[in-house]
Amino acid sequence: MSRPAPDPAASSHLREVVIAVVLVQLVPILELVCGWVSPALGQPVRLGDALVEGLGLAALAALLYALPAGPRLLPALVAGALLGLSAERLGWPPLLGVLIALPLAALPPRLGLVFACLCAVIPPQLTPRAPELGPPPARRESPPPDLALITLDTLRADHLGALPGEGWWVFDQAISAAPWTLPAMDSLMLGEPVRRHGGGLPIDGGFTRPSPTTPVLAERLSGLGMRAAAFVSNPHLRASFGFDRGFQRFDHSDAWEEPHAAWALWGLVGWRALGWPPRLWARRDPLLVNAALRWWAEAGDAQRFLWVHLMSPHEYRRDPALSNPALEKEDPERLRRAYAEASARGWAEATRLIEGLGPQTRIVLVADHGESLGEEGRWGHGSALIDPQLHVPLAARGFGEGPSGGQVAVAALADALVRGALGSLSAEVVEVGGLRRDASGFGLRIAGGSYSARPPPAPAADPAEMAVQGELLEALHAIGYVPGP
Ligand SMILES: [Zn+2]
Repeated sequence: MSRPAPDPAASSHLREVVIAVVLVQLVPILELVCGWVSPALGQPVRLGDALVEGLGLAALAALLYALPAGPRLLPALVAGALLGLSAERLGWPPLLGVLIALPLAALPPRLGLVFACLCAVIPPQLTPRAPELGPPPARRESPPPDLALITLDTLRADHLGALPGEGWWVFDQAISAAPWTLPAMDSLMLGEPVRRHGGGLPIDGGFTRPSPTTPVLAERLSGLGMRAAAFVSNPHLRASFGFDRGFQRFDHSDAWEEPHAAWALWGLVGWRALGWPPRLWARRDPLLVNAALRWWAEAGDAQRFLWVHLMSPHEYRRDPALSNPALEKEDPERLRRAYAEASARGWAEATRLIEGLGPQTRIVLVADHGESLGEEGRWGHGSALIDPQLHVPLAARGFGEGPSGGQVAVAALADALVRGALGSLSAEVVEVGGLRRDASGFGLRIAGGSYSARPPPAPAADPAEMAVQGELLEALHAIGYVPGP
């Protein structure tokens, strides 16, 4: 008996699978090479990411070749995902990219795959890098000296790291205007409490936005002749939410070149469903600092205002092993350790930025809000007007006047920065979540950290204000800021 001859159809199919698996490796290779050759072609890709991407694409190729139409489908899928991402980055509907990719299904599979993989290098070249927004500010006689505002997302006051260099003031009782990013940053930029600007309250599945006519910090500083740039990645701090106002350059990292195929693949293979984050903002912190320092060096012929928002502390539970709510009871120390480590990573980037800006630069460091780490049984932020979520670190360098102590409203920073004097901060009225409190009546005992009662609404003087306050209180109650009626 002779052994059966190998099935030529099966072996040729296997050869095609191997060729497809090899060809799709072009995607990570192209990305690696582009990032390596020039930052203008793409952000550097980590080798680990490229390997994961290559393995995932190989798995996808092998899987599709098991289907009758798979070989023809694969190029269109790979190209569709890559072009869809490019389209999204350019502000076009992602479906457009997918439609453009469809004709690839008509090509011979191998040729189609080569074309599809080439799409991996198209996005970095098409994606506008750091668009210049608006004309540069008019030259003034004597604009204020260079200023950098560094905001760390979710950093608690008790996790302020060691400040590099000399001459820092630390405000140890700084209170944010709200316990989550959007209203808190609105307040910081507008210099107004939430009650006045009305931004960041939930409405019809979105959020209220402050009036675009009230000038924000960057507009006011640009008006003084400063050149302004922002480098941010928090999804709430978008241009579409008005955070680009006043900046001649606004870099939101979502608009950056990234390992595109990696994101596409993560969606395709369902990592999101397995608990993997779709976006690792913390990973962008070093890139934000690099981009900010590059701009700082390029813009040196004018007085500069730089805003950088770092996300590392916010991301301490991104590891799927830490996202389990049961851990809050079973192993809270593990979560607190993870928070401390994430905060230290953010702090290291903030330190690198400060050192890169040089000793002459005026710097303000502050957090948008804090984080509950098990106090009163709470975790996270955005849920209550309590110390852990409202008490934020605030440190400054390079301003003439020292703080006089006591509570400080972060919302008062904008005015103080425009004046160039932080000493008056302490006298400002502290207003949180739209509820007006003067510092003495606020009832926070920050130093002791023993505050627990949420403040009751302050009685309004006139009926019109009372109506506004009533509506606001309802909205605040809806998101758990204040007890219900
Ligand atoms: Zn935040």
